[in-house]
Amino acid sequence: MSQRLIGKNVLITGAAQGMGAAVAEEYAKQGAKVCVADLNVSGCEEVVKRIKSAGGEAIAVSLDVTSRDQMTAAVQATVAAFGSLNVVVNNAGINKPLMFLDITEENWNQIMKVNAWGVLVGMQEAAKQMIAQGKENGPYKIINVGSILSRQAFDDVVPYSCSKHAVLAMINGGAKALVDHNITVNGYGPGVVRTELWEQLDKDLVAIGKFEKEGDSMDKLAADMILMKRYSYPKDVVGTAVFLAAPDSDYMTGQLLMIDGGMVMQ
Ligand code: NAD
Repeated sequence: MSQRLIGKNVLITGAAQGMGAAVAEEYAKQGAKVCVADLNVSGCEEVVKRIKSAGGEAIAVSLDVTSRDQMTAAVQATVAAFGSLNVVVNNAGINKPLMFLDITEENWNQIMKVNAWGVLVGMQEAAKQMIAQGKENGPYKIINVGSILSRQAFDDVVPYSCSKHAVLAMINGGAKALVDHNITVNGYGPGVVRTELWEQLDKDLVAIGKFEKEGDSMDKLAADMILMKRYSYPKDVVGTAVFLAAPDSDYMTGQLLMIDGGMVMQ
């Protein structure tokens, strides 16, 4: 199959590891030029090294998505390196489980700041650049990473669930706000994905007494809640991420696609 993303200049947040890194590498294989941005800049540099050794084009940028100035700088770095910005993937996210009655203001603020505010800032700063480039040069695409927890909530991760419901609201509201600028807003919602985020979550869930031993959160959710009876890996999301950046999805906006093995069916 031919490359799907030729001519696309893309900024991906939280791309030093996990799904963000996998999406960055696949986008580059599909012909995109990729700005790999994350708090962890040495991780970004490793991803860029892998992209370049596979023949792709990429740059590494240090980014805290909660800082508007840093997001603006990441957009500018992408434009300086590649000439324009066509696609942004707002992927950076964190989680820290607490049982419902134990949720603190600090826990709430920390998660909402990165997962909700960080996505809003990412959308706004990317959109300003896209608008400045002119709608005749679109379509432009904003892709936000939601979750199964954009559509339901688990009792041990309520602030995270709220933040991912906020991501869905920003997909819907952003699509309406930006359609006249030839910008679409869509997203994908993974289920249980074996990344460093879930490895840490798995340990934290044992620490708060939700599961007995490490590995249980992934194995039990797979057995009890995932129709396909297996959890996923970053490679399971890359096809949908490519589709949402490619011309195939041009007549689509305001949508959140679940990639969860059949966990949430709405
Ligand atoms: P991960 O922890 O492997 O990677 C997340 C990356 O985001 C890290 O490199 C981290 O440094 C970066 N990051 C964190 N805070 C940041 C900030 N303030 N600014 C910039 N970068 C920051 O996680 P992952 O599992 O690959 O998750 C990627 C996305 O997918 C997240 O939005 C997450 O909520 C979502 N998600 C994950 C799962 C899962 O099961 N792992 C399921 C559904 C949704």
